[in-house]
Amino acid sequence: MSYLAYLGLGANLGQPQQQLSWAVHQLSALPQCQLAAVSRLYRSKPALGSPENQPDYTNAVVAVTTTLPPHQLLQQLQALENQAGRVRVERWGARVLDLDILLYAQDIIKTADLIIPHLELCHRSFVVLPLLDICPTLALPNGTKIASLATATVSDDIHVTADNTWWHSFD
Ligand code: ATP
Ligand code: CA
Ligand code: CA
Repeated sequence: MSYLAYLGLGANLGQPQQQLSWAVHQLSALPQCQLAAVSRLYRSKPALGSPENQPDYTNAVVAVTTTLPPHQLLQQLQALENQAGRVRVERWGARVLDLDILLYAQDIIKTADLIIPHLELCHRSFVVLPLLDICPTLALPNGTKIASLATATVSDDIHVTADNTWWHSFD
């Protein structure tokens, strides 16, 4: 069986667009994953409450169909973060690559190392807006429509920086 999962991609160190493009290509090269859709590219200020003096974030969302169960998918994402050179210094600190599982099929998972839907999904415009790019009718497992979250999360600090072909070319 394969399942549809939505993944959040983010970076604010190095060359964020390059690292996100690299990640999309790596994901699509995994034998257990197929790329289903890619959002536009967004740029936003670091979230309130995160460590200060960080560069702006670049974010996108991709949908993949995968045969990997959720925890194995998380392991693959963390392996890619490490390969990209991610160093964990402080919570919500600057990073070269962040890959989160936002949604996995209609699953609700609450374990020590994996929570799905992603805990902050509803509060982050850099997640809600790209999710809507890919699937305007998307709903959470509890039935909440992602579109209904958009007005609550809209902020002036986020804007689209590239259309959904941004990941096609990278060095
Ligand atoms: P946030 O989770 O608020 O976006 P973050 O992405 O900066 O913050 P990380 O340091 O990347 O947090 O991850 C911390 C831990 O979160 C990971 O080690 C992982 O076990 C756990 N985690 C729980 N749920 C998820 C999820 N849905 N996707 C990715 N990681 C998750
Ligand atoms: Ca994150
Ligand atoms: Ca993360």
